[in-house]
Amino acid sequence: MQDLGYAILGSGMAGFGAANVLSSNGIKARLYEKRMRPGGLTTSFGSGDGFIFDEGVHISFTKNERVKNLFAQSTGQRFETGNVYCNNYWHGHWIKHPAQVNLNGLPTDLVVNCIQDFVEARQVQNPRIENYHDWLLAAYGKTFAETFPMVYTRKYHTTDAVNMSTDWLGPRLYRPSLEEVLRGALEHEPLDVFYVNEFRYPTQGGFESFISGFYDKAEVLCDHEIAAIDMKEKRLTFLNGSTSTFFKLISSLPLPVVIPLIAGVPADVREAAAKLACTQVVVVNIGLNRVIDVKQQWSYFYDEDIPFARISYRGNLSQGSVPLGCDALQAEIYFSEKYRPFAGQPGDLIESTIDALIKCGIVVSRKEIVHQSAIFLPFGNVIFDLDRKQAVDIVHGYLKDIGIETCGRFGQWGYIWTDAAFLSGERAARSAMGLHASAEE
Ligand SMILES: Cc1cc2nc3c(=O)[nH]c(=O)nc-3n(C[C@H](O)[C@H](O)[C@H](O)COP(=O)(O)OP(=O)(O)OC[C@H]3O[C@@H](n4cnc5c(N)ncnc54)[C@H](O)[C@@H]3O)c2cc1C
Repeated sequence: MQDLGYAILGSGMAGFGAANVLSSNGIKARLYEKRMRPGGLTTSFGSGDGFIFDEGVHISFTKNERVKNLFAQSTGQRFETGNVYCNNYWHGHWIKHPAQVNLNGLPTDLVVNCIQDFVEARQVQNPRIENYHDWLLAAYGKTFAETFPMVYTRKYHTTDAVNMSTDWLGPRLYRPSLEEVLRGALEHEPLDVFYVNEFRYPTQGGFESFISGFYDKAEVLCDHEIAAIDMKEKRLTFLNGSTSTFFKLISSLPLPVVIPLIAGVPADVREAAAKLACTQVVVVNIGLNRVIDVKQQWSYFYDEDIPFARISYRGNLSQGSVPLGCDALQAEIYFSEKYRPFAGQPGDLIESTIDALIKCGIVVSRKEIVHQSAIFLPFGNVIFDLDRKQAVDIVHGYLKDIGIETCGRFGQWGYIWTDAAFLSGERAARSAMGLHASAEE
């Protein structure tokens, strides 16, 4: 394996996607990571009392057979697989996801208003759509839009739908027919229209087992936070005082992080990078001394007085993540520097999370809690606000000009999952080597 001076910044899925391609071409890249261990957002950790938690729940939904096989190999073929089942909590009611085709069981007035507004919205020809708010009204009608997705948007994206674009939607939000809405209002759980259906999760070690098999594909240097990038000298300077040179540079670092590190960045590029908004996540981990007897792998929460937007059920992903006879939950509470800054410590949110879990009936009493902890993720999801597109184009154009290959959720600044992050790293590595895009993707 040769060291040809390829440097990869960031040790998440994208970084190891890049390392994997370079390694298959006989190149041992140097991979720099600021934290003390690799894995990025796909890191898992043991609680010390038998629970394994992810840095925010991660489940693989990839439909790409090659990625499926690579992830499976990483676990030594030890993974769980199953059908996705998730649901929604709204003011004391549990309904299957997606809510728009599962209104059965909600208060009659609400269901009637949702259907009436849905029919009215469908009658508007060529509705004017300038933002996500307009899109929601046109797709679902006023009552449903205002009761469910607009509230969830504030909880999850930390801003109002009116501030968001629609270029991230893809298949994420299902647009039902009238027949589907009516059936969902009249029948209990009639339809399966969610855009993901099968999931995979490692049997042991949490989600990280899907990436840890790649850790030997590069020379991984942890505790190497990049402090400066000099593209003329092709030199990296690290916060720990060391420096290193490179021939080709691949970065999965968040764009607002990487831009200020580069010597001589033009002011307009700096300003564009500063406009990019991203959520931050406090993840509250709760371990229970009993099994939670539910079917779902995760649930969405719409009530504004419930702090978390989502919770996941660890034992329903893999029994290997919880001690025998126990179970665990991970709750996600969203913030953002731009729209809802987080002040305080992650642990400050544990008590309000437990209160809400008790209110929803998921936790019966504090006595059954045997583990509680909280972590903070500084980069969660890209916020597709109205500033994003133009700002990303400026930043990407500049990085291309100076020869930095970007990849990953925060290098692309997109709504991409682990499989897409891995593939984007592979693409960046091929581009750095001057190879054409692979047909394998
Ligand atoms: C709460 C949550 C739940 C999710 N659930 C799922 C899911 O169920 N399924 C799914 O497929 N995807 C899920 N995702 C998305 C998934 O996490 C990402 O798509 C993927 O992990 C991104 O990988 P990445 O390599 O692009 O970024 P990252 O994993 O963030 O890697 C970037 C790395 O760069 C490092 N870094 C940053 N600054 C510096 C610096 N100055 N110097 C050196 N290193 C630095 C970081 O420490 C990090 O390790 C979820 C994301 C979140 C936030």
